Amino acid sequence: MTRETTYNFNAGPSALPTVVLERAQAQLLDFEGNGMSIMEMSHRGKVYEAVHNAAIERMRKLYNIPEDYEVIFMQGGASLQFSMIPMNFLNEGETAGYVMSGSWSQKALKEAKMQGATYEVASSKDNQFKNIPMDWNVEDNTRYIHMTSNNTIYGTQFKDIPEVNVPLIADMSSDIMSKPVDVSKFAMIYAGAQKNLGPSGVTVVIVKKDFLETAKEENPTVLQYKTHADSNSLYHTPPTFGIYMLGEVLKWIEEQGGLEAVDRQNEMKAGLIYDVIDASEGFYYGHADKDSRSLMNITFRVADEALEKQFLAEAAEAGFVGLNGHRSVGGCRASAYNAVPVAACEALATFMKEFQAKHA
Ligand code: PLP
Repeated sequence: MTRETTYNFNAGPSALPTVVLERAQAQLLDFEGNGMSIMEMSHRGKVYEAVHNAAIERMRKLYNIPEDYEVIFMQGGASLQFSMIPMNFLNEGETAGYVMSGSWSQKALKEAKMQGATYEVASSKDNQFKNIPMDWNVEDNTRYIHMTSNNTIYGTQFKDIPEVNVPLIADMSSDIMSKPVDVSKFAMIYAGAQKNLGPSGVTVVIVKKDFLETAKEENPTVLQYKTHADSNSLYHTPPTFGIYMLGEVLKWIEEQGGLEAVDRQNEMKAGLIYDVIDASEGFYYGHADKDSRSLMNITFRVADEALEKQFLAEAAEAGFVGLNGHRSVGGCRASAYNAVPVAACEALATFMKEFQAKHA
């Protein structure tokens, strides 16, 4: 297999723009004439610091992040955030509301339960997480509401955000930087980098300063958001190479024309595949309800189960990678994140049509 003949639809870690990898490769041994790799340099040195600050600035500009928000780079993945959020923000006598839209919300809730009182604001579990639950029931004394903006496993995505008058926290791990977002609607946004932003190892946290100031201070130092905010994410050694790569990916997003352009492209890409599903007269069917469909993770089934195995085998043979659905739901899933080229989605759409023509 070569990069040219591989269509990478992995759910995460997932495809990165080829040009970003090429640029990183060209700088790998000697970063900008400094005689060493960026990953061999001190995180306290001027060269790395410039890379670090440029990545934060790009993030601020692309997302139009208001001045009263901090942008923090951390480690521990989105999963550590599941624990850190209630650790930092949930106090005795308060409760935290969780919007249940899939496996990742369930995991976030599980961790919060270990820290304090919680409840479900809404859930689509009874509908096998096929839709985004929009009918929210917010209890008194709610410290924050947690939601998952895109459900990587079930292939659903929020189109609108309900208005609430309590701090809203969003896990955007699988649709961060895929479209413009009104950051001011959220007290906090977080995401593991490994889908739309770069290699795994970096976690981005965007948090409103006045919300951050209400955090508890009795947690271990490294598990307090304040520690990282106050030190410009340089309290301890950050994942320097990952942050450099994230900055390069953001530069690439700028070169694509920014988030509006990337969003239009994502709609077009996902549309190519959804159109084949919808025109297949039941040969394929989508998992998600139409109005909840994700532009990032397209989940579908081949109606004939025996044929589905063959579909996945023939697809793998043809160079399509990562099309097996998550082990918890089965079926097929094409993850078409920002870096997946239009050509890969066109190739998959063609492959699906041809497979149907052969076997229907
Ligand atoms: N949240 C969502 C929506 C995800 O898709 C994932 C991983 O796929 C996670 C959280 C967990 O992220 P991590 O592996 O960075 O802990």
